[in-house]
Amino acid sequence: MRRFFSQTPLGGTRAVIGGQEAAHMVRVLRLRPGDEVVLFDGSGDEWQAVVERVGRGEVELSLKSQHRVDRESRCPIQIGVALPKGDRQRWLVEKAVELGVARLVALKSSRSVVEPSPAVVERLQRYVIEASKQCGRNRLMQVDWQPDLSVFLQDAPSDAARWFAHADPPSPGIEQCVSALQQAPPRQIWAAVGPEGGWTPEEVRLAHQAGWQPVNLGPRTLRIETAVCVLATVASLIVPTTQVQTQPTDRKSP
Ligand code: SAM
Repeated sequence: MRRFFSQTPLGGTRAVIGGQEAAHMVRVLRLRPGDEVVLFDGSGDEWQAVVERVGRGEVELSLKSQHRVDRESRCPIQIGVALPKGDRQRWLVEKAVELGVARLVALKSSRSVVEPSPAVVERLQRYVIEASKQCGRNRLMQVDWQPDLSVFLQDAPSDAARWFAHADPPSPGIEQCVSALQQAPPRQIWAAVGPEGGWTPEEVRLAHQAGWQPVNLGPRTLRIETAVCVLATVASLIVPTTQVQTQPTDRKSP
């Protein structure tokens, strides 16, 4: 069923969707009263809803039932990345959302070709919503920016697995890092992916000083987006030991 994002928190029996989402509903999909859709607001729940009224620039819906549908990875991963240019950013965000990345941080590194800024983050957030509609995720991947790499490196808690993607031959392979984690799974994973030109020796030193583990992702040089996909996929296979497994619950709205 078609999914739409509500910028305002959903609840009660009625919702009004405006802006681009309403335009998509009306002009592109030509929804009419009686059509059924799914709404989500990023809180983790989704709602079965029925179109009641199509107005000028807004669509009014009745909310039928509310469901908690958890499609998050069991071990959350936050990835700092020196962004590639142009449309590659959209692809990167789309795949990161599909692969369950919890937070993506646009990093500034010495060889970055994209200057992270609030405007960049705003654009990436739009891609997050598009991808979440498509892949069924009910929590939005958080997007931030950090102009100081050392702050990002220091922010990672010391009990998180901290992977600094770096292809230097001495770096342990990702398979070694994963098998170490399977013995003692962490509560969360942080990872960093460098720019096309790679990390500088000074950045590698900073990561080492901050306690990050250099990780080799294999014998081939991956593009930035591919490295993000590999890290996200590997993280999605790890189950934290502390995690309490819960069944998804269905809750009817009053
Ligand atoms: N020539 C660059 C270098 O020497 O690092 C290649 C950079 S690569 C296109 C972009 C980023 O992806 C790297 O900085 C690294 O973080 C990550 N990366 C790509 N391939 C990797 C690999 N095989 N192992 C570990 N990290 C890799």
